Formats: sequence, structure tokens, C-alpha cells
Amino acid sequence: MKKTYGNNQPLSNATMFAQANGAIDLQTGGIVPPIQPSTTYARNTDYQPISDNHIYGRDHNDLLRLGEEILTKAEHGEDGILFPSGMAAIAATIRSVASGGRILLQSGIYWGTTKWVREFCTRRAIELKEVDSSDSDLLNRSIADFKPDLVFTETPSNPWLKVVDINAAARACTKVGAILVVDSTAATPVLTNPLDLGADIVMHSATKAINGHSDVLAGFLAVGDSTLPIWQAIKTDRQDAGALLGTFEAWLLIRGMRTLPLRMERMSATALKIARFLENHDRVSEVFYPGLENNSGHALARSQMVGGFGSLLSFLVDGDGAMALEVCGRLELFQRATSLGGVESLVEHRHSIEGDATGVPPSLIRLSIGIENADELIADLVQGLSA
Ligand code: PLP
Repeated sequence: MKKTYGNNQPLSNATMFAQANGAIDLQTGGIVPPIQPSTTYARNTDYQPISDNHIYGRDHNDLLRLGEEILTKAEHGEDGILFPSGMAAIAATIRSVASGGRILLQSGIYWGTTKWVREFCTRRAIELKEVDSSDSDLLNRSIADFKPDLVFTETPSNPWLKVVDINAAARACTKVGAILVVDSTAATPVLTNPLDLGADIVMHSATKAINGHSDVLAGFLAVGDSTLPIWQAIKTDRQDAGALLGTFEAWLLIRGMRTLPLRMERMSATALKIARFLENHDRVSEVFYPGLENNSGHALARSQMVGGFGSLLSFLVDGDGAMALEVCGRLELFQRATSLGGVESLVEHRHSIEGDATGVPPSLIRLSIGIENADELIADLVQGLSA
């Protein structure tokens, strides 16, 4: 499996993703890179690896490397690694902070991250501070005062769609020597490149739009400077602790990624259309989507997101939790399921999952917009909201 053209040639995301960065099966000419399921590789009579440096599956898997190479290129990184889930990527990052260290975490982000980081910091005696990182002044002050080792942000955030000024956060981190990690899952490498804005590490749950077909769990990290000690620690942790994506998952991921730019274009356009529809609906009291002109993060989103604002949005029904659940229950095209970024639209009532502890109101409904016909999705929302 080799490239048909050089890595130095700058290609647009559309071409690079569609052609899997030029990978083909050189043995047969198959234009799809093959799956190599072997966990171990044979040696010759001189006890040398038969094929350049292939020894054991945990260390050598060409498909995994190809997936990493495509995503690293898309993020303009120097190095990138895949994990078996987004949480495995987050855990490897957070685990690099030693006991007695400090982590500054964005409040109101994906609940799975918050829950795991809180528990981990308690166990490891790491000091944890949670702030609303979409408030740039507050974030700057918190970084300057708290002097964290690592700052973890998520933009746009899930489920509030808050936008964090990555460049301002990066400048504040540089002053105190903190590492800035950005969970860019909702933006994908197609809409935002946090490393270009000064982030040290960008993280993705590739389970979401990167794969896009709701059939693979995967996580990804990329770094702008691969000599950073934290990167070496994360890579060693991933490799030695064995948190590797399986070869079949890597193959599915690479297949799914071929259409990522196309899907993001369509999903972002439809999400904006739906956000505008909801904004004008008399049974909706508020819509959270950075693409809306009156959203507090809109100007910032315009400056750091290119080509759209993503597929995720939330809104508050004008009523209580029972009303929100009734709306969810009436929807016919939107699947009632968790997750986001797939080709099929999903609706989720986060309060049913998170309860009262996290501040997500019972009237909040989160939508993940897929690639279906926009008018049909809107018609479904019309009938759903007519309850
Ligand atoms: N980050 C965000 C923003 C998410 O929404 C999720 C999952 O929903 C994760 C991270 C965790 O990713 P995974 O489910 O692939 O472990």
C-alpha cells in the first residue's frame, strides 16, 4: 500500500479525503487499500522482518497509519494518532498530567468528558478548575491566576454550542506554559483547524462526523509540534498501554472519511436552515447554533470556522420537560438516539441522560443533522412541534 503521488503536493481536503490521500493496493491495483488482519508478521530465514519493519500488530498496521496520516494532514499537524474511542484519546491526554498538577476544564461540555476528568483528578490529586471558556476574559484571567499545566476546551461545545476563542486561549496558555487541547469534534478537521490557531493538541471523537456512518467508535489526536514532551508521553501511553484502533475499524473509518468534506457541507447547510426555522417557531424559546447571526459566538465562529458551522444544534421548547419529551416522541424522521455527526439525523433529550446535576434544562432538545432532504426534516419538526 503506497501513495500514488507525493506527500509534498498540497491537496484540498475534498481531493485528499476522497482519494484516501492516494492510497491504493499496489499488489493488485485495487483502488481501495486492503485490510491486513494479521496481528503478527513472519520473518525470513535470517530472522529479519519480511516486509520493512512489520513485526507485531500493536506496533505496525498500515491501515491505522493511513487513517492517521489522512487526519493529520487535514488538521495541518506534524503527527497524529488514532484511538479506539474519543474517550480513550481524551483519557490518554489527561493521564499525561502528573499528580499534584493542575487542569483547567471548560464547563458545560460533553458530560462524559467532565465526568471522567473529575473522577480522574480526584483519584490522582490533580487540582481541577472548571470555567466557561467561551468567556474569553474569564478564561484569560483563570489561566493567568490558576496557572494550569493543561487547558481542555471543546468548541463548538456539546450541547450548548458555545464557541471558544482558540487563538486567545493559546496566547494565554503560552504565557504560563500550559498545553492547550481543543476537542474539535463538532467542527471536524474540515471546518476548523485548531493547530493553525495556536492549539497544541487537537482532539476528535472520530465516532462522530469523521466516520459519519454511526458504525465505528474511534478517537484521534494531532499535534503541531511532535517534539513536545506531552506528545511523547501520550504516544508512549497509547502504544505501550495498547489503546489501538482495530484494523477493521480503521478500514471503515477510512471509507467513511472519503465523503467527510461533502457531508459537512450538506449537514452544515441543512443545520443552518433548520436553526433558522426553529428560531422563528413560536413553540421554541431559544436556539443554540453558532451559524445564527444573533448567537453570541457567531462573529468568533465566522472567524475560526470555514465552510459552515457544523451539524449539531440545540433548542429550548417553550414548555417543560414533558413537553420536550413529547416533541421528541412525535418525530418520525429523527431517530431518538444519542451521538452526533452521522448521515442520519438524531434527536436527543440530554436531561433524560444527565439528570439535574449538570445544568442541562429539561426543555432542551439536541439535534444532530444528517444528510437527508432538508425540507423533509423541517416538515418532521413542524409536525413534532405541533404537539
Ligand atoms: N467529545 C465530544 C464532543 C463528544 O460528543 C463525545 C461523545 O459523544 C466524545 C468526545 C467522546 O467520544 P467517544 O464516544 O468516541 O468516546
